[in-house]
Amino acid sequence: MEFDYVIVGAGSAGCVLANRLTADGRCRVLLLEAGGRDANPWIHVPVGYFKTMHDPRTDWCYKTEPDPGLNGRSLAWPRGKTLGGSSSINGLLYIRGQAQDYDHWRQLGNVGWSYEDVLPYFRRSEDQERGPDTYHGVGGPLSVSNMPVDREICRAFIDAAQEIGVPANDDFNGATQEGVGYFQLTARKGWRCSTAVAYLRPARRRANLVIETHALAENLLFAEDDPRRVTGLAYRVKRERRTARLAPGGEVILSAGAIGSPQLLQLSGVGPGALLQELGIPVRHHLPGVGGNLQDHLQIRMVYEVNVRTLNDEINNVFRRMMIGLQYVLFRTGAMAMGASQVGIFTRTRPELETPDIQFHVQPLSADKPGIEMHDFSGVTTSVCQLRPESRGHIAIRSPDPAAYPAIHPAYLSAARDQETVVAAMRISRKLMATDALSPYVVGERVPGTDVESDEALLDAARNISETIYHPVGTCKMGHDEMAVVDDRLRVRGLSGLRVVDASIMPVITSGNTNAPTIMIAEKASDMILAARA
Ligand SMILES: Cc1cc2nc3c(=O)[nH]c(=O)nc-3n(C[C@H](O)[C@H](O)[C@H](O)COP(=O)(O)OP(=O)(O)OC[C@H]3O[C@@H](n4cnc5c(N)ncnc54)[C@H](O)[C@@H]3O)c2cc1C
Repeated sequence: MEFDYVIVGAGSAGCVLANRLTADGRCRVLLLEAGGRDANPWIHVPVGYFKTMHDPRTDWCYKTEPDPGLNGRSLAWPRGKTLGGSSSINGLLYIRGQAQDYDHWRQLGNVGWSYEDVLPYFRRSEDQERGPDTYHGVGGPLSVSNMPVDREICRAFIDAAQEIGVPANDDFNGATQEGVGYFQLTARKGWRCSTAVAYLRPARRRANLVIETHALAENLLFAEDDPRRVTGLAYRVKRERRTARLAPGGEVILSAGAIGSPQLLQLSGVGPGALLQELGIPVRHHLPGVGGNLQDHLQIRMVYEVNVRTLNDEINNVFRRMMIGLQYVLFRTGAMAMGASQVGIFTRTRPELETPDIQFHVQPLSADKPGIEMHDFSGVTTSVCQLRPESRGHIAIRSPDPAAYPAIHPAYLSAARDQETVVAAMRISRKLMATDALSPYVVGERVPGTDVESDEALLDAARNISETIYHPVGTCKMGHDEMAVVDDRLRVRGLSGLRVVDASIMPVITSGNTNAPTIMIAEKASDMILAARA
């Protein structure tokens, strides 16, 4: 069978494409997903990421290489492996980033990617609970709703931030991002709204869409008479090797995410020549940027013991845990309906900056690592991350075997600016806790602890306690320089019949959580792809 489009990966981007490219019934589309169907009920309960993260049935369970910037620690890097991809296991927070992020992409020479250009695609994707306005849309596939949780300690954080000069902001995705307020969620009536739910469900019965799960894409196929033209893809379903062929004028679209897309290119001989040669892979197209430019947000999780009940007390207590379950079953509200964090703070570590450079994800709970057992005291966490890190890592395959995981080198905190910013961010966390609004609640700082005082000690603590906040991007960056992998229409440079559409194309990470920007990228790409066909 021949297809007009073969999409690799049914994640945040892939599900959007599968819907938009099949909508008018003219194109035949094959969507390949390495994971299974999104049948696990925990995928659909917002708090279920505590169950689906680190579970190999829904998470790839990657691990980074020991990172010098983290004193040699290696981190768990969850990535969704099911329909919906990472949007099926993520923390549901709906953040678009700053207008300046996209204007910067445009300044780098990427035509059509300024904020003015991309705003219509954010609006088109959205079904905003609060109704439409200049920034928000209604009637789109992706439901965006208000935080269904309101707690005394969360309100104290909102007051505390204002006390230190951060303005109140009830819409981080509106006129300005700076401020403090509750996050909004990609949720619908208390259920997760992944892209599989939002985009794939309405499209899955279309006669021109074939969806194959448990299908691992292995390598691209090229024309015999034109070694630069992609003609299809080899993939494996369990032990069976299959081939998907493109119809004339067709395209393979890689939406396998910031790890999967560069991995598949490298496996197909498209990437840094020296790396491929070392592994005995014939170099089809030397593209040195494939797998480079890796960026992520690193969260510094500071933990405070407080004198009011937090989710630690509720989840560690059988009766209260049952009450949380009952509240969710009856009303679809409460702790089971909330996202990974409740209160957001976007602020600046230096007054001369034009826009916020750090984001707090405040949580009325604490644990040694996200997704594992809560502490046995009443704890809150002020997770803070730098929004636009300057450190750049890379991803490199280790073997020609498509099932082998690539080596992930995040190079966290390797840039001096990033080191200064996390130290400043940790000091702002302490400033918040010392406000009139919060200090009456604080029993003490548990992590890293008040004995950690100097800049050097704080930086060292950051290296020891930080975790990914799950936003790897940039490994097939869009642009024009020699490290660019795709052009501004997301076509792989130097090849034909091949695009990359997912978080990996971001030239610079957006200032916030990366799901909504990835969905926007796919919305915009679908228009570009259909326009090229017309
Ligand atoms: C635990 C977690 C929490 C997060 N929290 C938030 C949040 O609260 N808010 C937010 O905005 N963002 C969050 N993110 C980030 C956000 O979800 C991602 O940036 C976004 O989903 C990336 O979309 P993508 O399409 O690039 O990749 P993905 O959604 O990861 O999709 C890639 C898909 O490709 C499939 N695939 C990969 N390789 C192959 C192959 N060889 N063959 C076939 N299929 C393949 C994968 O299984 C996957 O389904 C979180 C992510 C994680 C993991």
